[in-house]
Amino acid sequence: MSTAQSDNTVFDYLVVGGGAAGSVLAARLSEDSDVTVALIEAGPSDENEPRALQLSRWFEMLEGEYDLDYLSVEQERGNSHIRQARARILGGCASHNTMIAFKTPTEDLDSWVAAGAQGWDGQTLRPYFDRLQVPIQPVIPEHRNPFLTDVTTAAQTALGVPAVDDWNDGELRTGAGFFPVGYDPQTGVRGSSSVWYVHPVMHERANLSVLLETTALTVEFDGLRATGVTVKNPDGTTTLLSARREVILSCGAIDTPALLIRSGVGRQSDVTALGIPCVIDLPGVGENLMDHPEGLVIWESTVPMSEPRVSDWDAGILARFDGDNGFPDLMFHLPLMTFGVHAERLGYKLPENTVSITPNVPRPKSRGRVWLESADPSVPPKIDYRYFTDPDGYDETMMLKGVELARQIAATEPMKSWIVREVFPGPDVEGEELAELVRRTNHTVYHVSGTCRMGSIDDPQAVVDPQLRVRGLESLRIVDASVFPILTTINPMVTLYMMGERASDIIRTGVI
Ligand SMILES: Cc1cc2nc3c(=O)[nH]c(=O)nc-3n(C[C@H](O)[C@H](O)[C@H](O)COP(=O)(O)OP(=O)(O)OC[C@H]3O[C@@H](n4cnc5c(N)ncnc54)[C@H](O)[C@@H]3O)c2cc1C
Repeated sequence: MSTAQSDNTVFDYLVVGGGAAGSVLAARLSEDSDVTVALIEAGPSDENEPRALQLSRWFEMLEGEYDLDYLSVEQERGNSHIRQARARILGGCASHNTMIAFKTPTEDLDSWVAAGAQGWDGQTLRPYFDRLQVPIQPVIPEHRNPFLTDVTTAAQTALGVPAVDDWNDGELRTGAGFFPVGYDPQTGVRGSSSVWYVHPVMHERANLSVLLETTALTVEFDGLRATGVTVKNPDGTTTLLSARREVILSCGAIDTPALLIRSGVGRQSDVTALGIPCVIDLPGVGENLMDHPEGLVIWESTVPMSEPRVSDWDAGILARFDGDNGFPDLMFHLPLMTFGVHAERLGYKLPENTVSITPNVPRPKSRGRVWLESADPSVPPKIDYRYFTDPDGYDETMMLKGVELARQIAATEPMKSWIVREVFPGPDVEGEELAELVRRTNHTVYHVSGTCRMGSIDDPQAVVDPQLRVRGLESLRIVDASVFPILTTINPMVTLYMMGERASDIIRTGVI
């Protein structure tokens, strides 16, 4: 230990991870000047990093110095070459994502309640969307790219979905249009929780300490009570930080289960096999990994994609497999940049000018896993997505339907006039050949979640109860994407913000 216990190592709350959810939570908890809060963040501040602050520059951060860039194990059926971006910077993945900002659909929250997350219903959660401090609105008219306008128009004709102006106005429905986005249209500043919750208070509030470039190594316990966290400081020394009230983990869906297992919380046989004494046997830690698998169709375009654009991922389509217009079960991003690396790896040569549509499966049934092979914190966690392994083949069927609908959209005016030819998978690729190509090139949408899932107190696979308390332990909660019982149909960031807000109320009042 480099530092003896003193006041600056003892706090009421330790929030570990200053990402999407953790930043909201630490800012809200520290509104009460009678408590002290330490926000422990492995990365540096985003305050002077223009690539993090300006939404349009997000791609410059991908696979760069702030990206933990996790690889997976060899995939049984899906793509084995996915690089899972995880940002190590204040704001977490909300500092380098594309800020698509959907309010959580009531249908999703109802499915959480059905999975044992009592008190997380749509009606209870709605006020938390209304009190968010981040700017969210549909891409403003001046920033709407004409190609995207044409694709969404073609989708309305091809799929029979309505035009949508604001998906956050009312309940989620099928449609085509520009996305709600977290950004300030005047300045281009992203709507991250670090910018809008932490920056305004981090140098002002005496009771909030933001400990940057400080990595939690293990959670410490006295019996079954979490008492603190051992951290690695920026200079490489270690310190024990103590929590008078609670330790709250917000490290995200990969690093939270990793931190728990390293601290002796997980499946007993897995924990002890690493030489770590088991604090409590919780077999659900690291299980239930979910992500939206995303496919890809690429066309040669008649012209290069021009401005304006906000993040390149500004518009999309929500549709249904059966062609109805109820709650969507297919999503399509309409990127202005083609992410063709996985097609190129298989030998496809992309022409200079391309456009693409990326269908994804919003309610995937496949489940993967995160685990550790070493107790050494410098060894990355192991990830197995197990894409397309659900026994009924639902995920693959939906993805292939998505490719079919994407081709229909491209064959419809006014998108048709922008297209020269289909480049990937190729117009003649069908059947099992198409299915195999789709599996070998699927990408992540970076929506990993569910690895410490919330459930009822008597559910042996649940890791946290509906108050987000780790089952069987005291003074330890999880507030991040790992607690999702079921992945949201839409992009999850706003749900993480709402969860940070709700967690602050639950912690303050003890009531759900
Ligand atoms: C490239 C990309 C694009 C995306 N685009 C969108 C989008 O457009 N819309 C959308 O809704 N979602 C999007 N997402 C997903 C969204 O950003 C995540 O779901 C969300 O940020 C997860 O929030 P979280 O609080 O669970 O974790 P994170 O935001 O990942 O935060 C975790 C934090 O914990 C810190 N940390 C980890 N381990 C430790 C440790 N041991 N000690 C201390 N700190 C630690 C990390 O540095 C990080 O700051 C995208 C993600 C990526 C990567």
